[in-house]
Amino acid sequence: MNRGQGPGGKGPINSDDITVTRLGGQWALVVQPVIPDDAPGPFKNALAVRRAANTTGVCPGCGARMAMPNRAARRAAATAGRVVIATFVHDDDCAVLCDGDGGTS
Ligand SMILES: [Zn+2]
Repeated sequence: MNRGQGPGGKGPINSDDITVTRLGGQWALVVQPVIPDDAPGPFKNALAVRRAANTTGVCPGCGARMAMPNRAARRAAATAGRVVIATFVHDDDCAVLCDGDGGTS
């Protein structure tokens, strides 16, 4: 559960963690992953690709397109005061995917 913490779960969300953009013709606030200064290069790149995909709706690494829940699900989320969660299905070799060891293998 996110209790008002940023995407890294280490502190409150700040303005660097949020991007305002238009997705599917509607304004959206996108909570972005933070890129740690001390992260390995491949991990930083994966997070940068993810941030770009989140703001444009298209992954620059593999071309995956953001899938939004249908209208009924979006309305239900709005009525319940919940956020709408969009998803991407990336190619297996997309730069957005990192293997957990910093991409060194
Ligand atoms: Zn991708």
